[in-house]
Amino acid sequence: MTPAPDIEHHLRASGLRFTAQRYGVLKYLAAGPYHATADEIYAALTEREPLVSRATVYNTLKELTRAGLVREFPSDSNAARYDANLHPHHHFVCDDCGAVEDIAWFELPRQSGQPDLGGHNIRSYEVVFRGTCGQCSRSAGAS
Ligand SMILES: [Zn+2]
Ligand SMILES: [Zn+2]
Repeated sequence: MTPAPDIEHHLRASGLRFTAQRYGVLKYLAAGPYHATADEIYAALTEREPLVSRATVYNTLKELTRAGLVREFPSDSNAARYDANLHPHHHFVCDDCGAVEDIAWFELPRQSGQPDLGGHNIRSYEVVFRGTCGQCSRSAGAS
């Protein structure tokens, strides 16, 4: 396997040692736009490399998240989704099929007065839009 140069570069620049597992997980996520759960990533990787264990995939995701190469996307279910798109963006989640899509970044309009953030120091924010995706809307209309 010849590593894709940019993924290898990101890995090394983050200070993480290059391993086949880290590379495999990053490459899978970078092939998106895709917001996969750890189980989905595990399933995809074991197809190619049957020796990868579930624990390895979970640990690798934690390491990549800590190193800032992947970000955890909060989802309703217990299974966190992982996102290799590190540019600021919002998300859309379909109520019907669960599809997660990136929404191009925009600033929230400034409110009059400061919103009460409870004295917390906000590092970043993102908006999650929920509703029915175009595909589910169309199939609902057709039936
Ligand atoms: Zn949908
Ligand atoms: Zn995303």
